Amino acid sequence: MRIVRDLPALRAELAKLGPLALVPTMGALHEGHLSLLGIARRQAPAVAASIFVNPLQFGPQEDLSRYPRDEAGDLAKLEAAGCDLAWLPSVEVMYPPEGATAIEVGGPSEGWEGDARPGHFRGVATVCAKLFHQTGAAVALFGEKDWQQLQVIRRMVRDLDMPLRIQGCPTVREADGLALSSRNRFLSAADRAQAPALHAALRHVAAELAAGVPAGAAIATAKAGLAQEGFAVDYLALVEAETLREVSTLPGRLIAAARLGSVRLLDNIAAA
Ligand code: AMP
Repeated sequence: MRIVRDLPALRAELAKLGPLALVPTMGALHEGHLSLLGIARRQAPAVAASIFVNPLQFGPQEDLSRYPRDEAGDLAKLEAAGCDLAWLPSVEVMYPPEGATAIEVGGPSEGWEGDARPGHFRGVATVCAKLFHQTGAAVALFGEKDWQQLQVIRRMVRDLDMPLRIQGCPTVREADGLALSSRNRFLSAADRAQAPALHAALRHVAAELAAGVPAGAAIATAKAGLAQEGFAVDYLALVEAETLREVSTLPGRLIAAARLGSVRLLDNIAAA
């Protein structure tokens, strides 16, 4: 695996590789990221992963410095996963001084994470656009775990005629249902034991909707249950899968964000 940290080195390595599948990450890699790598290998002759903790997608109240980092461990995992190229730009390489351009996606960026984290999707869209241009990837893979993000990227690629395909990949979960996340390591033992209740609540709501219970009632009951179990629920909603607009009838996507202590958990499932 080639490890590159600046644009000239990246271009030199890309010239030796065929069409590329790109897995953008912020590092602290877990089995969820590695499943994207595995799917990527079936999409293109060469696979690249980027590791870049993107300051642009963190709000002023969010602790960028607390984001977990483990470059040596990540590189070993990428190597073992058969990755051909690791792209590790510094902040200075990604955002040279005097940069004055950002990408603002409307539509699916609005509401939910867009409300909870103002400017977040602007940062995500901008860095992903740069990664797509830097690597010239033919396909980029994103987890369904971050459902709204996946829709924002799809929208941007369509709206700006970017010449690559976006592939969504299923959420990888612990045996008890908790979606893998780099942030799970910050859960206390008690909160870790409680955390799978979020996924369980989504599944319960999906079953109720399928049985004909009105969305408003099913969701209100689930939110109250989660609050009783110690979650601070930011939102739990039934939305149209691509636009993220709230809907009251199936089919849709059930999306949720809830905090346990200082850890914010995101999850979503299909509801049909
Ligand atoms: P991150 O490093 O958190 O920015 O995530 C990098 C990519 O991995 C994103 O496309 C995420 O949606 C995806 N991802 C994160 N967690 C999971 C998971 N549990 N299952 C599948 N994909 C995931």
